Amino acid sequence: MATEFQVIERRFAPRDIIGGDAALDFINTVNGRDQTPSDWLDSYTRLLEWAELVHLLPKKARGVLGRKVQNEPAAAAAALARAKLLREALFALVTGLIAGKAPPKNALAVLQEHWNNGISLHELRFDAGRVVPLLRNDAIEFDSIAALVAYRMVEYVLPLPTDRLRLCAGTNCAWVFIDSSKAGRRRWCDMAVCGNAAKSRRFQARAN
Ligand SMILES: [Zn+2]
Repeated sequence: MATEFQVIERRFAPRDIIGGDAALDFINTVNGRDQTPSDWLDSYTRLLEWAELVHLLPKKARGVLGRKVQNEPAAAAAALARAKLLREALFALVTGLIAGKAPPKNALAVLQEHWNNGISLHELRFDAGRVVPLLRNDAIEFDSIAALVAYRMVEYVLPLPTDRLRLCAGTNCAWVFIDSSKAGRRRWCDMAVCGNAAKSRRFQARAN
């Protein structure tokens, strides 16, 4: 699996969040895997910015990690590299499912490891009449973002009908998403970006 892409510096924007679940939006932090891939996670701080945008972590946890990055930059960079390995495993897994193929064994192994971590970030609590898994407040560390992505993938994305998982039909995109349209015929990540055939407009839309 390729994990080294051209890394670009770029702020995440709400229009980048189209996957239908944060686990798929995480895969989409690489754009254009089919042509000229660019990796939008240029630092652990950027990963935190992304996690904030998709509401993956409570605000307090983001603050804790933000301070930790300043003190432990090497550990943060190592965690970012591990998160990117998960990202490529998830891309292989999802595109395999879309194609009706068994996912690569190593992709499942990588997901399993992060999913286990994701479970241990939770505790079961009785809340409003139900027992639910809630995020523990005391367990956040650098790998928690990847762990929560894996947790979401297993708990929320993989149970969906696989014929609702999509790879964008646009060129230089390869974003994945859940088609939750009534008719089940959504082809594009975003009609305004990939649905429009004009490639130049796509680049303008995604350049910054
Ligand atoms: Zn697209």
